[in-house]
Amino acid sequence: MKNSLLKESIHHTALDGLFRYADFLNFGEVCVKFDHDTGLKAIIAIHNLKRGPAIGGCRLVSYPSTDHALEDSLRLAYMMSFKAAISNLPHGGAKAVLIKPNVIKNRRAYLEAFGRFVEELGGKYITAMDSGTSVEDMDIIETQTQYVTCTTSSGNGGDPSPYTALGVRRGIEAAVKFKLGKDTLEGVHVAIQGAGHVGYFLAKELKKRGAQLTMCDVNQDNLRRCVEELGVATCAVEAIYDIKADIFAPCALGAVLNLHTIKRLQVSIVAGSANNQLAHHQHGGLMQEKGILYAPDFVINAGGLIYVAETYNNKNTHHAISQVENIYSTLTAIFESAAQQECATNQIAETIAWERLNTPSIE
Ligand code: NAD
Repeated sequence: MKNSLLKESIHHTALDGLFRYADFLNFGEVCVKFDHDTGLKAIIAIHNLKRGPAIGGCRLVSYPSTDHALEDSLRLAYMMSFKAAISNLPHGGAKAVLIKPNVIKNRRAYLEAFGRFVEELGGKYITAMDSGTSVEDMDIIETQTQYVTCTTSSGNGGDPSPYTALGVRRGIEAAVKFKLGKDTLEGVHVAIQGAGHVGYFLAKELKKRGAQLTMCDVNQDNLRRCVEELGVATCAVEAIYDIKADIFAPCALGAVLNLHTIKRLQVSIVAGSANNQLAHHQHGGLMQEKGILYAPDFVINAGGLIYVAETYNNKNTHHAISQVENIYSTLTAIFESAAQQECATNQIAETIAWERLNTPSIE
């Protein structure tokens, strides 16, 4: 009986694939927790600890399989390392993935079990809000661990989205100055894909500065809020790539910049909040060839991370906001360097982040 069980598990192990992928991404460690009582199935992928404790959101979403969840956690943690490094934060990158069951019988108990898991790691990993989790969830997790951000007590309501939007606005200002030679956003036309958390706050930031906005969303309620409150123009979801504007701001999904969509773009700048915007690394080069200035996603969308990390590390909110504003100068340096070296902006950003990742933080 025992022998046949052993055979079963060896035949069905996902660990070979995991180790290969982890090696490819230069990991790190992957911690797993199963809690029978609450149904918690959690993966915490810790990519890098060289610059300090690893930080990253906790997502609670459904996955077609455990392998998909594992892959997602590793890929996202890797990207968080780049984001933290390019933003000069004293942190490595990590991600927690909670595989959403069909039913969570007791959400409080479920999140408490996750909080205890984070606490057991002794501060190697600091958790935060992400897809499928809320400030209220972080408050519950805080009852079990000190290694949590985005709580009600962490300042300004806990939601990082307004700071992500602030960083994107600063990034757009840097791109407009570099590409269009303009000091203000007055009259600049921005086509925003997605009117969710970041899209809404970004639209507010841009509207205040006189930008002209066109938005789309599959969710009509989210889009209506932007129309009613901010008076934005709208377009059909698929038409967003064809809008003649100055800027395309992807704030909805990953992989939206691909061979098909880049061909259609009629803008001179791409700058938005979405993670993993390029379907393939080489598409950054394609935009360069087309004369489109691309603000690398993990640089321009780091505002939320910068804000939560800075407030977690006990700096005041004023300091945290000024660090978010620095996205302007970080991006300007990347644009200048890419122009000098005649290469894609994402390539420059990745090289800088990679070098920093291998250098311990001075803080
Ligand atoms: P969100 O879920 O609140 O909003 C996303 C919006 O996009 C939703 O309104 C959704 O209906 C819409 N959408 C989905 N598919 C679409 C499509 N095909 N076309 C148009 N709209 C579509 O998410 P968010 O927090 O606003 O984040 C937006 C993006 O920015 C995501 O890629 C996220 O990973 C990234 N990001 C967010 C933060 C943050 O602080 N929230 C930080 C960094 C990166």
